[in-house]
Amino acid sequence: MKEWKIKALYYGKITVPKGNLAAGLDPDLIIDFPYTGYLLQNGEQNVVVDTGIHEDHIVDGRAWGGCPAEGGSKYVLESLEKEGLTPKDIDTVLYTHLHNDHAGCALLFPEAKTYFQKDEYANLLNPLPTQMIREDFDARTPGDLKQLKNIYMLDGDMVLPNGLELYKLPGHTSGSMAIVVPTAEGRYVLTGDIPHLYLSLFPKSDKYELLGGEIIDITPAPDKMMPYLFNSVIYDHYAAFDSYNKLKCLAEDFDPKWYLTGHDPWIINRHSFG
Ligand SMILES: [Zn+2]
Repeated sequence: MKEWKIKALYYGKITVPKGNLAAGLDPDLIIDFPYTGYLLQNGEQNVVVDTGIHEDHIVDGRAWGGCPAEGGSKYVLESLEKEGLTPKDIDTVLYTHLHNDHAGCALLFPEAKTYFQKDEYANLLNPLPTQMIREDFDARTPGDLKQLKNIYMLDGDMVLPNGLELYKLPGHTSGSMAIVVPTAEGRYVLTGDIPHLYLSLFPKSDKYELLGGEIIDITPAPDKMMPYLFNSVIYDHYAAFDSYNKLKCLAEDFDPKWYLTGHDPWIINRHSFG
């Protein structure tokens, strides 16, 4: 089995009060959170994880929750170009989930083998009213997915023949999925948005790295919030608790360095893993 290498892809950013993603801690702290994708390469295959936000979903410079945002297909294409690739070079697309900022540019990859969870597709087609307030899903995504030529709809956990491991982790959405990537360094977990930030798994952290590399002080969680820091975008707390427990076991070690989350800036700064 060939070992994998991981590159973080910068698909733009959204500017959100940290408290929204970290159980209300530091409510006045406003942070640029990247829209993040990943490129996985094993010398034979090019795999993309998530396809970012579509430019039409950013209205008057604002996206999810009315927060300032930038991104779109141009960003996805440029991030691939920096790796010497175009969408035609991508064999496989894996979706951690189908939210607007993770599946917006699906149509850039119409021929690729495309994997997502069956329950995620059901959630996309039947969102709860609370999920519609902030337009968690992009209205274009159901139509986009119908145009893809090579869909693999999964139910649950599996190991692909190429060694990538897929785990269903509901809570943030019904069919969220983590991807475990075996590399020469060890097992990295691409978590998707459960958690958005490593702070959810490591709530006692008191430092945080911003886009560009500056490190700031943050408020560690009080004991009553342990063991996990939930946020405003957990729709099933029971499922999420189980998913976090599962996530804890998947990486090389239970240490922030192995958890490549949906929106942590340090990942973009470091760029390359494995
Ligand atoms: Zn999400």
